[in-house]
Amino acid sequence: MKGFVSCPRNCFDGCAFLYDMERGILIPRKDHTGVDGITCVKSRFLLDVARHPERIKKPLLRERDGSWREIDLDEALRIAARQIEKKDKVVRIDYSGNMMLLSRRFHHRLFHVLGAPHVRWDICAEAGSEGLRQSWGVGYGMDLPDMKGSDLVVIWGANVYETSVHAYTYAMKTKQSGGKVFVVDVMRSETASQFDLIRVNPGGDVALALLVFLLLKEKGYTVPMDIPYSPEELASISGVSMDKVGEFVDALITAERPFIFMGYGFQRRMGGGMAVRLISLIPYITHGKPLFYYDRPPYGIDTDYVSGMHLSAGEVWSLTGMHRHIEDLENATIVVMNANPVNTLPRGDVIAETLARPSNFTIVHELFMTDTARHADLIIPSAASVEYEDVMITYGHKYVGLNEAVYEKPPHAITNMDLARSLAHLLDLKQEELYEDDWSVITYVLKKAGVDIDLLRKQGYAPLPEIPIRKEPIFPTPDKVASYVRPAGRGGYNLLTPSRRFRIHSQYWALHKEEEVLYMSGDDADLLGIRSGDMVRLKGENGKSITIKVEVSHDVPQGIIRVFHGVWGSRLNNIISDVMSDMGPNSTLSDTFVYIEKV
Ligand code: SF4
Repeated sequence: MKGFVSCPRNCFDGCAFLYDMERGILIPRKDHTGVDGITCVKSRFLLDVARHPERIKKPLLRERDGSWREIDLDEALRIAARQIEKKDKVVRIDYSGNMMLLSRRFHHRLFHVLGAPHVRWDICAEAGSEGLRQSWGVGYGMDLPDMKGSDLVVIWGANVYETSVHAYTYAMKTKQSGGKVFVVDVMRSETASQFDLIRVNPGGDVALALLVFLLLKEKGYTVPMDIPYSPEELASISGVSMDKVGEFVDALITAERPFIFMGYGFQRRMGGGMAVRLISLIPYITHGKPLFYYDRPPYGIDTDYVSGMHLSAGEVWSLTGMHRHIEDLENATIVVMNANPVNTLPRGDVIAETLARPSNFTIVHELFMTDTARHADLIIPSAASVEYEDVMITYGHKYVGLNEAVYEKPPHAITNMDLARSLAHLLDLKQEELYEDDWSVITYVLKKAGVDIDLLRKQGYAPLPEIPIRKEPIFPTPDKVASYVRPAGRGGYNLLTPSRRFRIHSQYWALHKEEEVLYMSGDDADLLGIRSGDMVRLKGENGKSITIKVEVSHDVPQGIIRVFHGVWGSRLNNIISDVMSDMGPNSTLSDTFVYIEKV
């Protein structure tokens, strides 16, 4: 058997594969411009997940004594339907555990009909996207593969060694062919240690971008915006020396094809959307083009049709503020799909408490016994992505990828779409949208977008429509920028919680179990009398605290501490910021400040 497989993960790279049945492996496609024969270690996990010994293969019902009892899928679906009928309210919590077109959205139709609030996915990249929309009309510049062959690469606020194998590979190729690669970051990350670091203060990105504007202006470039600050002021706020910025600007103006890759972490702060907006304008000033990558919206794809937004009653809940929506919830059926909110959303402790509340009935659709599944009353096993058909639209390149079933699904596991259709049937719901079959939805949406379905079927991938973008972007006015010309900081240590290369957030932890560690600078450790291996207590601004093991690192500057998020059993998200940003709406996870004491 040979099949087309697309990686459904929440990842820039959007890898596509051929499944080689004889060898039982996935081969990254070399004939696909967006994949280029490159993939990350996690591609192996796509198959490993399906055969993993810890995978939940039969539904689990919680008994009165707290133990689990295995039941059949039919019984699990009947119990789920009964609970939905019995309770006062239905709540859906979902996010990006599976990013394929239908797997991510088709089930929304059911929850809209049941009156569940629609969930706004405001945790990730919306601040930057909104910043770009204000300048360029759309939250988009170029695609990740456009980075190939650049003579100057700027990786701004991203640790692509951990999070984007394509960006890291292309940057390395630029360096190896004599080009220049700068990394703008608050610390010497794994990526920065390979290239030329421009170390910026946390939240100093707006000041740094304005300083670049100012120096370009001095060199005769047209910058259609007043900048009422001196270079020295901006250098001091950004934390970057005039010499370093001068070196950066010189490299930029002599480059024939610069490319700026922007990450998400630095825009999860107050002012983060403005930072993305200003950075996107730098290559426009020097080269007259949007030579940057930041996200790729599913332009032309009618995601509202897939989600059945016309069925929604209109109530919208925030993902970042989910704990506030549900903290007083009683007598509700809560259904969690595509997500591990107890581990990944702010105040996972409040979410866990609500899921486990006796008056609520919690259904978790999952592959593994995650932090969230542990609080369920009923776990319904989900199908692994290699066990069913769907299509993948990534945010890194312009190709929609076909995903075919190359493994057989366990008999008691169910796809998101079939779960929604089965529950609709058991609940005797009449809306025909609830029963539309998968390929009818896919065909309608892709045809509407102008995608060649025959080519997709034949080749396994097909291009999406081009995204129109303003030729002349709009620059912000100085008064709009003024409040962001300051570093972040409210006292305490700035806690950063980035992604790890073996995980996608908390996904895959079962396949690569790592201990949770806090990295801090040697100077801070000396001041606090801490050594590697010591345990410390981190106290958040919300009064909550966690205990964690320290590792002293020379790559982390004073005032910053770092913990890779997504370790199962972690309490890290109990202390991260749950404040909404000023643009987006978006989370401000990177604006987390904590106090440290040795235990
Ligand atoms: S996680 Fe990302 S880089 Fe790795 S296989 Fe999936 S899409 Fe590719």
